Amino acid sequence: MQTSHSHHWTEVSRHPTSEGVVRYQRCACGRWCLVSTPFIPDPIGVSATVPVTRRA
Ligand SMILES: [Zn+2]
Repeated sequence: MQTSHSHHWTEVSRHPTSEGVVRYQRCACGRWCLVSTPFIPDPIGVSATVPVTRRA
C-alpha cells in the first residue's frame, strides 16, 4: 500500500488550544494531517505529526 506520492500539505484550518495550536492540513490526494505546535519550544519533543486517515 506504499506509494511514492509526495504529500503536499495545505493548511485548511487552525485551532488554538491551551497547549498550542492545532492545524489541520490536507493533501490533494485527500489525506489529512493534524499538526500540533506547542507555544513553548520543547527541547525533547518540538512537534508531533499524526496522519489522520479518513474512513467513510
Ligand atoms: Zn498526498
